[in-house]
Amino acid sequence: MITVLTGGTGGAKFVQGLVRVRPPEEVTVIVNTGDDLACWGLHVSPDLDSITYALAGVLSRERGWGVDGDTFSCLERMRQLGAPAWFQLGDRDLATHLRRTALLHSRTLTEATAEIAATMGVKARILPMSNDRVETRVLTTQGEMSFQEYFVRERYRVPVKGVRFAGAERVQPAPGVIEAIRDAEAVLIAPSNPVTSIGPILSVPGIRQALRETRAPVAAVSPIVGGAAVSGPAGELMKTQGLPVSIAGVAQAYQDFLDVLIADQRDRTYAGEVENSGVQVAFANTIMDSDPAKAELAGAALAAVMPARAAGRTR
Ligand code: GDP
Repeated sequence: MITVLTGGTGGAKFVQGLVRVRPPEEVTVIVNTGDDLACWGLHVSPDLDSITYALAGVLSRERGWGVDGDTFSCLERMRQLGAPAWFQLGDRDLATHLRRTALLHSRTLTEATAEIAATMGVKARILPMSNDRVETRVLTTQGEMSFQEYFVRERYRVPVKGVRFAGAERVQPAPGVIEAIRDAEAVLIAPSNPVTSIGPILSVPGIRQALRETRAPVAAVSPIVGGAAVSGPAGELMKTQGLPVSIAGVAQAYQDFLDVLIADQRDRTYAGEVENSGVQVAFANTIMDSDPAKAELAGAALAAVMPARAAGRTR
């Protein structure tokens, strides 16, 4: 089994590639739920949905989120009715949130996620990081707000002072999460935002320790290419954590459990800085702008991490 830790955008493209080079039944995806929000009384899990839609082949390519070809009639009507309408919910996407919210009356988030994924034909196993609430809060110059308020409503234009994961100290990993890390052949950290996508997963008590202790080698694909995030606010957010916006900064964020960093070809000049921290570096084309590119990157990540398995982990 290959286990992947991921957020919703870079991670969604990466898992699409992974299931082209590995049977999906052999893939477990542990997903950030720190961005979850209540919208119109519904439980919305943006990253779980992006991963589910990506693996079901219905993720919108042009937007990178939501269902391909979706319409927005309900959103328009809600706006006319005076409801908050800054969070873009498509009509078909809305059906997922209605279904999830109903299921959550009698099931855990793990169970609801599995049921929705199964009905969409997804064969990989998708696990939320926890069934308990952890909320990513972004401290900005305009006050503290949820991640989606910062990301979607404010379009990440407000300066950020810090990030915290509210409630993390009280939660438990969802069933299967620790085992998926412990019993994996290899663990892959997707090219996701290290602070607000992977950070919340690592804040769940026991997960970081499992990554340090697993016998499986751990590799991460850098979301930073050429000294900047491929998309979104990862660079700005890394600065708030005192991390350089470079592949060395990504290695530093995961230093205590990372064996191999997969970096983009154009970042070869930074290899020495990463290796100084005891992490090996492998280079690949990490821009996933086509289906073959996604599969090639997933294949390169597996090729780089498996020798580390054979050699045995040193950290
Ligand atoms: P979010 O929950 O929607 O923020 O999703 P993720 O955290 O999974 O994805 C956002 C991160 O993916 C950003 O930091 C981007 O830099 C990175 N990213 C997006 N597309 C690509 C790509 O094609 N290649 C690489 N290497 N990183 C990417």
